[in-house]
Amino acid sequence: MGQKVWLNGNLVEREDAKISVFDHGLLYGDGVFEGIRSYSGRVFRLKEHIRRLFDSANGIRLGIPLAADELAKAVADTLQANGLKDAYIRVVVTRGVGTLGLDPNRCQSPAVFIITDRIELYPPELYENGLEIITAATMRNHPNAVNPRLKSLNYLNNILAKIEAIDAGTLEAVMLNHQGFVAECTGDNLFIVRDGVLFTPPIAAGILEGITRDEIIAIAEDFGIKVREENLTRHDLYVADECFLTGTAAEVVPVVRIDKRTIGDGHPGPITKRLAEEFHRRTRAS
Ligand code: PMP
Repeated sequence: MGQKVWLNGNLVEREDAKISVFDHGLLYGDGVFEGIRSYSGRVFRLKEHIRRLFDSANGIRLGIPLAADELAKAVADTLQANGLKDAYIRVVVTRGVGTLGLDPNRCQSPAVFIITDRIELYPPELYENGLEIITAATMRNHPNAVNPRLKSLNYLNNILAKIEAIDAGTLEAVMLNHQGFVAECTGDNLFIVRDGVLFTPPIAAGILEGITRDEIIAIAEDFGIKVREENLTRHDLYVADECFLTGTAAEVVPVVRIDKRTIGDGHPGPITKRLAEEFHRRTRAS
């Protein structure tokens, strides 16, 4: 059975899931998206992802031609059509077909598509031993440009930082904001632990309000671990006891080296492990 893609209300074969070259999603990155995950057939935090998608669309004045519950049903239908229980789900809304000019009002109707696929994970050793990352020279979008809270189809800044990471022989890069404070990584939020307290950059630092980030904060609070959303410098990362990244696909990934500085004792720390285990339990709990 071939892979089915949900495209504008129909489940079509992968080969037939096509978008016009005149779609402004392609011409200008004019669109929004979500990356979601299902565990044993249950979609994790679907409501929150759909809400963020609507917020992103609203932020760029793009009307999604479906109600939230219709979108949720479309996600479920796509998973079912592909017989997938543990999956990565990509929901994309583009401005649709328009002219070669920028004017979004000349685009006829938004395109909506949903792809469900197997999850691409970091290798298991990285969860055991931790990840090495660098700080990228490319900074995160200024919040008064395309605000990083908008999960838009224009990820070029992050792609440039990702290229820096790959050039340095690593898999991820920390991006700083326009003030030089730590924002987040190219596809994940960032946390550190210092003296038993969990720190993460505030939303105002110009980051995506990650759904995994929110869950980790909630778990830490349940565990009685103090959480502070504060501006962090590169130096704060270097002197941290522990560091980890969070994201839908990656879940919780320990970081053990940043810009060649060893973090803590160079191994995933105890608080990172506790939070990761509990996150794992909650995502898979029936
Ligand atoms: N930051 C960026 C830039 C991202 O693209 C993502 C999602 N891949 C995240 C953080 C993590 O967000 P979430 O936990 O909602 O997947």
